Amino acid sequence: MKRRTFIKTTSVSSLACAIPPVFSNFNDPDYSTDELIGKAVIDLFGEGINLRKEAYESFVAMKKAAYSDGFDIKMVSSYRDFYHQASIWERKFLRFTEDEGMEPLPAIDKIIEYSTIPGTSRHHWGTDIDIIDGNPKVSGDVLVPEKFEKGGPFENFKLWLDENSEKFGFYLVYTNEPKRRGFKYEPWHYSYAPLSIPMLTAYRRLNVLRLLQKEDFLGSEHFTTGFVKTYVQDNILDINPALL
Ligand SMILES: [Zn+2]
Repeated sequence: MKRRTFIKTTSVSSLACAIPPVFSNFNDPDYSTDELIGKAVIDLFGEGINLRKEAYESFVAMKKAAYSDGFDIKMVSSYRDFYHQASIWERKFLRFTEDEGMEPLPAIDKIIEYSTIPGTSRHHWGTDIDIIDGNPKVSGDVLVPEKFEKGGPFENFKLWLDENSEKFGFYLVYTNEPKRRGFKYEPWHYSYAPLSIPMLTAYRRLNVLRLLQKEDFLGSEHFTTGFVKTYVQDNILDINPALL
């Protein structure tokens, strides 16, 4: 019997007395394919936060701790569904191919420096966040690495995150480890490891190639088997090893 069905059909009080360890395994449910690729409707918590419950609670605790150290954590992006990611993807695809006259394949390579293929974003999971410090005055794009580096407006915020985020379960995903492939360094993107590790484990069991072949967004007809294989290896799996 699946654990989820089991919990639904068993009274809480009998569970609590008989087999309490069920609750400590709650982080490892069966995730559906739709849930993993951003097509399921999931419960999200917190106005302007939009994370799974446990990630939301930990985020709020981290935000409070940061606040008392002088940083005002601002959520730039959290949960994003498949269709939202598809609109980001298509907008970039059109900009590169039509406005800038690039061929489809180089355009796709350029998109995947920072943006994911719809259905493959960690933002689909309700566990990942893009954050900045709301205190300093900043002009232009906020999600650029230089702003988090020496002399940038988020320099001290990044140092605080280096020191503290993991205490709250939030780990940097796309590190500046020089040998890492896939997405470029994103000092703003953190993942709530207690949920996203089991989700990635479940994701790895999916046939991403077959799932993407069923989709029909601009540029998707150019995805070859080799391209998708490399993408999974580099962009999905070549991340902070603490999140594998
Ligand atoms: Zn992100």
